[in-house]
Amino acid sequence: MAATMEKHSNIPVLILFFMSESTKGENGDLDLNLKNLFVNSARNFSNTEIVYRDKRRMTYSKFFQRVKGFAAGLESIGVKRGDTVAVIDWDTDKFMEAYYSVPMMGAVLHTVNIRYPPELIYYTMNHAEDKWVIVRDEFIPILERNKQVFDFIKGWIVYNDENGSVNTSLSPNYNYEDLVKDSSYEFPDLDENTTATVFYTSGTTGLPKGVTFSHRNLVMHTLAVSNGIHFDPISVKRDDSFLILVPMFHVHSWGLPYVGLLLGQKYVLPGRYEVGMILDLVKKEKIRFSAMVPSILYMILSAPNLDEYKEYVRGWKVIIGGAALPRGLALKAKSYGITTIGAYGMSETAPLLTVAIYNDAAQTMDQENQFNFSITTGIPAALVNLRVVDEKLNDVPKDSKTIGEIVVRAPWLTKGYFKDPDKTAELWRGGWLHTGDLAVIHPNGYISIVDREKDAVKSGGEFIPTLVLENALSELQGIGEVAVVGKPHEKWGERPVAFIVKSNNVNETLVYEHLEKYAEVGRIQKWWIPDELIFIDSMPKTSTGKSDKKELRKLLK
Ligand code: AMP
Repeated sequence: MAATMEKHSNIPVLILFFMSESTKGENGDLDLNLKNLFVNSARNFSNTEIVYRDKRRMTYSKFFQRVKGFAAGLESIGVKRGDTVAVIDWDTDKFMEAYYSVPMMGAVLHTVNIRYPPELIYYTMNHAEDKWVIVRDEFIPILERNKQVFDFIKGWIVYNDENGSVNTSLSPNYNYEDLVKDSSYEFPDLDENTTATVFYTSGTTGLPKGVTFSHRNLVMHTLAVSNGIHFDPISVKRDDSFLILVPMFHVHSWGLPYVGLLLGQKYVLPGRYEVGMILDLVKKEKIRFSAMVPSILYMILSAPNLDEYKEYVRGWKVIIGGAALPRGLALKAKSYGITTIGAYGMSETAPLLTVAIYNDAAQTMDQENQFNFSITTGIPAALVNLRVVDEKLNDVPKDSKTIGEIVVRAPWLTKGYFKDPDKTAELWRGGWLHTGDLAVIHPNGYISIVDREKDAVKSGGEFIPTLVLENALSELQGIGEVAVVGKPHEKWGERPVAFIVKSNNVNETLVYEHLEKYAEVGRIQKWWIPDELIFIDSMPKTSTGKSDKKELRKLLK
């Protein structure tokens, strides 16, 4: 798999085959691979801890021994370089070990999306050409039910939270702990272009698409994220414990399992996301840094017993990405002393593109303006060449109002969709990765995404930026989550409809009064005000926890 995914003709396949062994060592240069990136972490931070819920803790030194031991075990059962190894789990210490062992031994880590319906789990495992599967006991029944489709799997590595024996009809199977053996194992010196990971997009339109990343991609991405989180108002310090709430199956958990261990942070793994456990971990492990999508922050801030944790969440620094950070949510977080900032990226970009740290302009602003810019989409990270362009690939002016598409280049973008040359060509047209995200640039360099091309509402030939409308709605007290979608309209083509989850006494009159007020002061335009408001009990979510606009549009039919 490592070879065929990189290029789509036979010649590069052969070249890659020979390239998987490093040729750099002789002249003192080193490949940008994960082994070289982490060569000093176990030594430098030997006593720093990795914690799994309230269940287990180990030092970096033990972790890296286990990572080697597990790789030795995988090799002993026949896992070879280039084999794809799937992991099916919540965010656990075992998953963390696989993040390191599998790519560092030259195999490809497939992080399976456990939020997909079973058919898509089977589809992606087949499409990725998985050969081995590392699976937690609670997901085994989904696989056993359809055993006959897995004739391509060579072996199953199983475990449970207690590290005990696991009964399964999947065969042949091996107990994870029995494989963690020989810590004298040495990882190979891989060429930096060796494929390290594969995972699948959320699949909001059509079947999910596979994206692959090389060691070089991951190393460069790790360095850029580490650089990004060093600036105000995040400015991560050595003793800022990490609790990352971006699923490990999706976009490498935004790269933070690698960043955390490069920077020597205490790294806490929450398992399945449960708000009670999350708040307990924040308290007990003194969590200071997290990353998550807005709906997880919404869940935390809606916890009925949040006030009991007031003194522990104060000073928490949280990066919000995957969807726009609603102003109302950021304000609520602020009232608890939590700092939130926006960040942006996508599956195809590993994901980091922008983060709303302070640039020179923001560093000297007053607090209110700093807040306003810290909740935007942000500024491009180091090494990201980002443009907002019109249809002819010309840059739009930095005037906060001309809308264009974000296109990017960076050293960690996927080369293309696995086994899908047509979609790859579409993604990379004109030599730039096309994000499909519509944005404006402000004169001081900050970017604000205003919509997704696919979700944009076009009314009377003009765009209504749904994210701007959602942001305005989120500021009304009592509105929980909100999503605006287009409804077909005879005269205007489309008109906006707002779906609202309310947390207390909000009614149509209050919402319209609020929007009229915002229109008067120019925060939105009057003609954007939705024709219809629909109050719902809960927001439908995609497999990665974002508002599912496709499902909402279905409700309008
Ligand atoms: P995914 O590939 O599933 O992670 O989704 C990526 C998409 O999420 C992007 O193309 C954007 O449309 C959206 N997205 C991610 N971050 C942001 C953000 N900060 N603001 C607005 N939209 C975002």
